[in-house]
Amino acid sequence: MVSRVIPVDPFDLIIFGGTGDLARRKILPALYRRFWAGQMPPEARIIGAARAAHDDAEYRAMIRAAIGEFVAPEKQEPATVDAFLERVRYLTLDARGDDGWDALCGMMRNGVVQAFYFSVGPGLFGDLAERLHRHGIADAESRIVVEKPFGHDLQSARALNATLAQHFDEHQIYRIDHYLGKETVQNLMAVRFGNMLFEPLWNARNVDHIQITVAETVGVGGRGDYYDRSGAMRDMVQNHMMQLLCLIAMEPPYAFESDAVRDEKLKVIRALDPVAPGDIVRGQYGGDSGGPGYLEDVENPDSLTESFIALKVHISNWRWKGTPFYLRTGKRMRARTSEIAIVFKDPPHSIFGVQERQKANVLVIRLQPNEGINLRVTIKEPGPGGMRLVEVPLDMSFKEALGPEAEDIPDAYERLIMDVIRGNQTLFMRGDEVEAAWAWTDPIIADWEERGDRPRLYEAGSSGPEDALMLMHKDGRRWREVKA
Ligand code: NAD
Repeated sequence: MVSRVIPVDPFDLIIFGGTGDLARRKILPALYRRFWAGQMPPEARIIGAARAAHDDAEYRAMIRAAIGEFVAPEKQEPATVDAFLERVRYLTLDARGDDGWDALCGMMRNGVVQAFYFSVGPGLFGDLAERLHRHGIADAESRIVVEKPFGHDLQSARALNATLAQHFDEHQIYRIDHYLGKETVQNLMAVRFGNMLFEPLWNARNVDHIQITVAETVGVGGRGDYYDRSGAMRDMVQNHMMQLLCLIAMEPPYAFESDAVRDEKLKVIRALDPVAPGDIVRGQYGGDSGGPGYLEDVENPDSLTESFIALKVHISNWRWKGTPFYLRTGKRMRARTSEIAIVFKDPPHSIFGVQERQKANVLVIRLQPNEGINLRVTIKEPGPGGMRLVEVPLDMSFKEALGPEAEDIPDAYERLIMDVIRGNQTLFMRGDEVEAAWAWTDPIIADWEERGDRPRLYEAGSSGPEDALMLMHKDGRRWREVKA
């Protein structure tokens, strides 16, 4: 199978915060990989802009090092790296001051796609939008890419949307949620809407429940200060897990087109029930010989912020009424894994007798590691021993099924940045979606803050607090094992 690479239109991509961690680890290596793959046309240009004083040569050296660190060695031919770096420039610029803006204005070209990537702290998003406008740098077709977090609550998200809207139209604003750029997440839509097999069963009549797990083995690391003001609900559930939930639960859009998809996602968010306190378990990881506990990591012994959360969520609409969605995410867990499991109901009657009760079919969509899809089905155990049933996985690892081409699946940032250049907003969050997600999240957080709810301690390297297991046990269900 040969993947098709269609070069995008010539562009100028300005990366504000071009010397930062995200630019170095994700954005610039992603751009290089697209260049290597032949997707960046020769006229494309990348301009890193940040506060520190560097010249082009210093900036290129910084990017060369980032490519060396974050791109697979077989893609690092020196001539290709040199050719890529020739397209890169650097500009010293202050998002809050006047330095650099006239120079940036002078560098802009007509007749190419203009995209401005806001890879700076969220406190600067408004400043950048305002200055791009004031200096006449952006026009009605320019695009801005806005990193997460998009607001801290409904009020701040609304304020940020309003500020951006003063200078840019919604069709120009690309709010990043990198989960939407993952190959498997798009495959979720292909599986649902490209096959006849699943969609007729995709409802409360046939689905017992759905589990979404995003488990990390790392702790909060050097981001303790930021994380402690955020927590798992804001950092993971309000955005990434909400997006996954929307793609599983939404009605078929009339076309795979940005507003059609986003309209359907918005309806899901609006149909979410408030979550009762008894349906939420919050946790904090403890310390062990392998590392410090959460409270030490964030250097706040009184912190009530959760590094783990599990919750049972209901969607009040015709399709899903009565089918719970169980979400859980946490840091310092047993394994690094992200998966969605659709657990179907048991067959209504077993013709094979009580001993041979069939187990439910489970469709598992693995986001990481080893992206793929797995369907558990019941078959007859081979051999002469009568009608014994056994479950087997129908396993489709993309790497195995698609061969070496699948090794080269673009990472989320590659796909999303190319979508910005192509002007395709399907995999980006619309302003009203983000606000609706905060409108659902805010009262849940306000409730535990008001009660002074203290997260349960969980062992580092475990699957979360005991109470999270009980959240499902009390419904007669079990979480899937957290394993890589
Ligand atoms: P960082 O602190 O490493 O880099 C910030 C960048 O902004 C630097 O290049 C700095 O020079 C520049 N900057 C700061 N003040 C400036 C000013 N006044 N004018 C011009 N430039 C200025 O931050 P980061 O980790 O790269 O994160 C950037 C954005 O991406 C943030 O919004 C963050 O929340 C988001 N994000 C980061 C990650 C990650 O893994 N690092 C992941 C998801 C989202």
